[in-house]
Amino acid sequence: MTDVPLPDLDWPQMEPGWVWLCGAGPGDPGLLTLHTANALRQADVVIYDALVQEQILSWAPQAEHIYAGKRGGKPSAKQRDISLHLVELAREGKKVLRLKGGDPFVFGRGGEEAQTLVQHGVPIRIIPGISAGIGGLAYAGIPVTHRDVNQSVTFVTGHDQSGNTPGSLDWDSISKGSQVIVIYMGMKHIAQIARKLMDAGRSVAEPVAVVTTATTDDQKVLETTLGRIVDDVATAGLEPPAIICVGQSVLMRQVLDWQGMAAGQPPRNLDPLGRGRPAESA
Ligand code: SAH
Repeated sequence: MTDVPLPDLDWPQMEPGWVWLCGAGPGDPGLLTLHTANALRQADVVIYDALVQEQILSWAPQAEHIYAGKRGGKPSAKQRDISLHLVELAREGKKVLRLKGGDPFVFGRGGEEAQTLVQHGVPIRIIPGISAGIGGLAYAGIPVTHRDVNQSVTFVTGHDQSGNTPGSLDWDSISKGSQVIVIYMGMKHIAQIARKLMDAGRSVAEPVAVVTTATTDDQKVLETTLGRIVDDVATAGLEPPAIICVGQSVLMRQVLDWQGMAAGQPPRNLDPLGRGRPAESA
């Protein structure tokens, strides 16, 4: 398929000299928004990151495709160079689609790119996407909030700009204040992160899920605990990209692993949080 059908709507037109900053969703091309599909049909140039699926790019056959991420040992483009490249393309009068994995404003530097564009007088449109920390967990059967578990959720990155675990993060407060913690880019420093959470009082038995290449055909899900995560990730040979979810909501996968159920596996536990009542009765 080279053309995405769009339902009837007064679709916005991409104008020459504009940059649309669009989310591509976490992987499964079906998780793209219709606005991004509309942009794919019109763009002259698509500048895309790693983690954007080939099939999504095939929906913009008329456009030039420019890779701007880190993948397969290719050197990574510098953030400033990417932003200035977008400015250049816009000034050439192109209809520019900047396509980023997940949501462009969630750990995706979309804000920086958009700011540079505005500073250079380039008009922009922002199209959000489904972030891996929400949609990726949903594909694994893990609700990012669940009434019996959490009233808040914290999204954190395992890297800061220097590539280290975020020293600026107050793991003590996060650990105490957030029942559910969703970690992006956490694989490299998983040992330190797990240690910090346990030092801050989270149990060694705290449920953790690691979801790699979520929502794609290669999705893998590991259910483990804070105490075992390092060994289990190594044994399973899991590689990034991964979303790591810490908290009791991980247990809900025992009843909500819809992909497993679709493949014929019965739910492992109908009441994994031990409420002893039908979920809807309260
Ligand atoms: N803007 C993106 C996040 C970019 S940061 C979003 O909203 O989803 C890149 C990190 O996102 C990866 O290191 C990983 O932690 C996470 N990620 C993105 N896509 C993923 C996927 N399909 N499966 C698991 N993790 C993913």
